[in-house]
Amino acid sequence: MDYDVLIVGAGPGGIFSAWELTEKAESPVRVAVFELGSPLDRRKCPIDGDRVKSCVRCKTCSIMSGFGGAGAFSDGKYNITNDFGGTLHEHIGKAAAMKLMRYVDAINLRFGGEGTKLYSTANSAIKQLCLQNGLHLLNAQVRHLGTDINYVVLENLYQALKDRVDFFFNTPVRDIRRIEGGYEAVLEDGRIVTASRCVISVGRSGSKWMEGICRSLNIPTHSNRVDIGVRVELPAEVFRPLTDELYESKIVYRTEKFEDPVRTFCMNPHGVVVSENTNGIVTVNGHSYEDPSRHTENTNFALLVSKQFSEPFKDSNGYGESIARLSNMLGGGVMVQRFGDLIRGRRSTPGRIASSFVTPTLSATPGDLSLVIPKRILDGIIEMIYALDKIAPGTANDDTLLYGVEVKFYNMEVELNENLETQYPGLYVIGDGSGVTHSLSHASASGVHVARHILGTLCN
Ligand SMILES: Cc1cc2nc3c(=O)[nH]c(=O)nc-3n(C[C@H](O)[C@H](O)[C@H](O)COP(=O)(O)OP(=O)(O)OC[C@H]3O[C@@H](n4cnc5c(N)ncnc54)[C@H](O)[C@@H]3O)c2cc1C
Repeated sequence: MDYDVLIVGAGPGGIFSAWELTEKAESPVRVAVFELGSPLDRRKCPIDGDRVKSCVRCKTCSIMSGFGGAGAFSDGKYNITNDFGGTLHEHIGKAAAMKLMRYVDAINLRFGGEGTKLYSTANSAIKQLCLQNGLHLLNAQVRHLGTDINYVVLENLYQALKDRVDFFFNTPVRDIRRIEGGYEAVLEDGRIVTASRCVISVGRSGSKWMEGICRSLNIPTHSNRVDIGVRVELPAEVFRPLTDELYESKIVYRTEKFEDPVRTFCMNPHGVVVSENTNGIVTVNGHSYEDPSRHTENTNFALLVSKQFSEPFKDSNGYGESIARLSNMLGGGVMVQRFGDLIRGRRSTPGRIASSFVTPTLSATPGDLSLVIPKRILDGIIEMIYALDKIAPGTANDDTLLYGVEVKFYNMEVELNENLETQYPGLYVIGDGSGVTHSLSHASASGVHVARHILGTLCN
């Protein structure tokens, strides 16, 4: 075999697998990491806000791919909780999952995150305020690294790993095949690399590829969820009581009309709204910097409605993609609308956006989200905005901006045992690509978990 372990994908899952394998091994373990994208310092999104204002659909998206994975330019909100961010605890147990998330948090601190703040919902009066208004605040501790410190941590991790692991950047793996005693990775140029163990950690951007691998190896999968919604942007003052105390609050609301759950997601105090390209479809996201000099006057967060489909419909991601495509068709990318225009049933125009009291942090096309988002979902979002207005007055102001669409695609869930191993011994699927995780913390923890299991089996 060329290596002991092949890792596909250098996102948090792949990085923390490689870290644990090389840090804890009693004798050297030969590890190769294949990554479709570039090294961290060569990841450059062409959008500069000046010459290039919106997504130009690069062949490999620098925001989603490369060392650090989809999390590299994220806000670096590291949530330590079993309440959201994935279902790792269903595989390995709640206590073990929390322990692993804390373990990774300590490594992040050691590699540059020291001094960053850890927020907590424990004993917060906001919980009571939410309950009094039909809202539910989920329990979590959140470490806010910020986009800048998150980058430093990744840079330091790369320096620590580069001499212990063979990294192959701009090297997509085309196929994974079973061979006698292990696995072979077939690279895009036809080269073949072999190892006794293989860890697949291809994230959300690798979802289609993962589906193909599961099909060809007959690995059972389950799926049927997609989250669709908008990104809300408003003056930071409006959400200050929540963000000052909690930084990020995950709040869930059940709509009166359809009893659909709507939740806040990815809150970025003083942050910026950004566009993101997943498999050629432009959707919206957000992040914020730890450095106060890079703060904006706005806070942004997503409002998402979960759609769970039942048989015979199977393509929940296809449904989400179609809605995102529709918004791309009408807006040429991301669309923006004032809340006041939405409820008056009229489109936002460049003039209405320009005269708004909230200055958009993303250059998006003014339009009408009601032409894009299905009524049931849009009604849920509007209901939630009025509910949030009760705990953060000003949320339902006319000038609150809504960007669309934000879609959270869920990878189909790969059937895995408690070691995150498929039915084939030595073939592991971790991180967001497994469908088990949807966050930096759960994805990183899943990487550590499989590395420890592999080390145990390599020693025997
Ligand atoms: C803009 C943005 C902001 C976010 N903010 C947060 C946040 O604040 N907090 C949080 O918890 N989560 C956040 N997330 C989500 C978080 O980034 C992911 O949950 C996390 O990165 C998942 O890690 P992963 O290793 O499973 O996958 P990824 O990070 O997606 O990494 C997978 C890697 O595999 C590579 N790959 C794919 N296919 C192949 C192939 N065939 N061959 C070789 N390589 C391949 C990809 O290029 C990618 O680099 C954010 C995501 C985005 C996009």
